[in-house]
Amino acid sequence: MDELNKLTYIVEAVDLTHDAFGVCKLEDGYTVFVEDFLKGEKAEIIVTERKSSYGFGKVLHYLEKSPYRVTPKCIHYYECGGCSLMHMDYDLQTAFKKYRVETTLKRQGLGQVPVKEMIGMANPYYYRNKIEIKFQNGEKGIEAGFFQAKSHKIVNLSECFIMSKRMLDVVILVKNIFNELKIPAFNEAANSGILRSAVIRETSKTKQLSLLLHTTDPLHDAKDVIIKKLTTKIPELIAIARTSATDPSSYALDPITIWHGPETILDSIGELQFAIGYRSFFQVNSIQTEKLYAKALEYAELTGKERVIDAYCGIGTIALTAASKAAKVFGIELIKSAVMDARKNAEINHITNAFFEVGEAETVIKKWNKYKFDVIFVDPPRKGCDKALLQAIDDMKIPRIVYISCDQATLARDLKILSDSGYVVKEVTPVDMFPQTTSVESVTLLTKKFSK
Ligand code: SAH
Repeated sequence: MDELNKLTYIVEAVDLTHDAFGVCKLEDGYTVFVEDFLKGEKAEIIVTERKSSYGFGKVLHYLEKSPYRVTPKCIHYYECGGCSLMHMDYDLQTAFKKYRVETTLKRQGLGQVPVKEMIGMANPYYYRNKIEIKFQNGEKGIEAGFFQAKSHKIVNLSECFIMSKRMLDVVILVKNIFNELKIPAFNEAANSGILRSAVIRETSKTKQLSLLLHTTDPLHDAKDVIIKKLTTKIPELIAIARTSATDPSSYALDPITIWHGPETILDSIGELQFAIGYRSFFQVNSIQTEKLYAKALEYAELTGKERVIDAYCGIGTIALTAASKAAKVFGIELIKSAVMDARKNAEINHITNAFFEVGEAETVIKKWNKYKFDVIFVDPPRKGCDKALLQAIDDMKIPRIVYISCDQATLARDLKILSDSGYVVKEVTPVDMFPQTTSVESVTLLTKKFSK
């Protein structure tokens, strides 16, 4: 233990940071952020890192524990970087995320905006329909799991509460098969080995599985044996493919080789079906997606007559969900293959009033400035909307905006811009898409009255 760590302090957590670290002050007013320390708890801590205006600390032992503290279900919780709120009671998790939205809005001067109770899950476990698993070579063969927090070391999972049990079966089976065949995991430092990672998906209702293996070698000789072993043990595994793309879930140019089964699996949201390719973006929590879209549609107040834009439309899920309630829906999406998926999804569902265009939302929308639109859905990536898009929405006098966000900081920034240009931020509803983690998803309604 170095000099810094010898000093201990008795403190109380008075707040929580966005990463759910307890905020406490030392006697001299110095602020320390302490992991695994809930608001209201008292503990003896050490300071592990001192910066000029704040530091980080660790609890040595608790003097008073929060009534909202629970024993994490997962034995890997304190090691694995996958979850970060499992020590909180689920009601506290949702209250904490709602509070995060409120404080972020307040910082932008939007403290008056009503933030509704978070729409949570009845069972906040086993919810992911897609996971990406990494592999490494351990002492007893290949290990598989997620990275440790802020590290490239993998936690070898024997249980997991955010993926389904069947998905974990696939993870363990892949590991066992590669061990049996003596095909090693990839070793980053040595730049050798073969098995890098795997993306596993499971459809929400039919529980069919797909597996994309990311290997440095095409595995021509082992391929048939691997497929046979996988599908014999797990018949629900209907689609298997491999790629050498460094980022297997991106739309990178590295081709995917289909090993077994179809190119897409069929999943559903509400009444609609969606063909999902190995690289298609699809909301990862199917149960919550239905609730999120239901709230978004409620905010849209469609009567069947409206002309609607779905900016950042991905494979068209929101546009197609809105299509039966609107006159026409126009989706815009940057990635060409996602737009191709969206058009295919319109066809599968016999929807003829949805149109999709490839390009940047901020550029494509300007081409439509002669037309009148009633509602726009925006569902941007974490960096939020481009300023030019927000300007175009106002210029085109679109009276109703439904903003779906996965990052409350950029959401608050964009709401401020829209609010300054005369839009009223009616309300925000957070939806818990990622229980046990600090990620916050929300849907916001904005309206503006334009004189004709
Ligand atoms: N609405 C969809 C996808 C949301 S994810 C759903 O709910 O499934 C955000 C999407 O925005 C991604 O598909 C990404 O490719 C796309 N995107 C990112 N920047 C964009 C831009 N400038 N213009 C249009 N689409 C963009």
